[in-house]
Amino acid sequence: CGIVGVLGRHQAAPILVDALRRLEYRGYDSAGIATVEGGRLDRRRSPGKLVNLNDLLVHDPLSGTAGIGHTRWATHGAPTTMNAHPHARGRVAVVHNGIIENYRALRTFLESRQIVPETETDTETVAMLCNWYLDQGHDPVAAAKATVADLTGAYALCFLFEGEEDLLVAARKGSPLAIGWGEGEMYVGSDALALAPMTDQITYLEEGDIAVVTRAGAHFFDADQAPVERPRKTVTLDP
Ligand code: GLU
Repeated sequence: CGIVGVLGRHQAAPILVDALRRLEYRGYDSAGIATVEGGRLDRRRSPGKLVNLNDLLVHDPLSGTAGIGHTRWATHGAPTTMNAHPHARGRVAVVHNGIIENYRALRTFLESRQIVPETETDTETVAMLCNWYLDQGHDPVAAAKATVADLTGAYALCFLFEGEEDLLVAARKGSPLAIGWGEGEMYVGSDALALAPMTDQITYLEEGDIAVVTRAGAHFFDADQAPVERPRKTVTLDP
């Protein structure tokens, strides 16, 4: 339902929770965040309101300056901790808005390779498939691109990788996604409102776009995976 991502200079967890709070008005049933630090991916997830996630983080903090976060409106699988995003498998974590319509076919493909689901969600399939591409020798950007090319349905996605503290890969089809430009920091949000306190410099992804984001900026690729320019706009929203 709500997606945020940050490549920052400060601890990501409070920034992510705060950004998710700005998307609360959209409604959700569970929430979670993942960060990467010292090369290692870690995540915290909780059913219910963001206050639950925040309590969890107070007792069991998550450090790192790169991370992704999600508020979930369940479509596939009950609103449990296990089904909450970010979904992770091996070396990748992902947050997703929308529905992966071909997730059963993708599961069948993965199960025939002894890669079995642990959750009831369509989204977990995206993490499983991306990790499979990593295992085939793809680098993170190539793995994310190959994964997205296999998906049908509606999605906004943001990928975070083990060992990559300066990389987010974002993709949009049928569900909005914005890239926010900061000073040596970059953001991803399903809504510019989520990013309002951090930046008013926004690039909206177009249908089928993939963005490769580092702290130095973002590169955009269209539905044919060709490099494209996307305009950067100043949006005025009350923080
Ligand atoms: N289909 C996904 C799920 O049920 C994402 C739902 C959403 O957009 O929050 O987990």
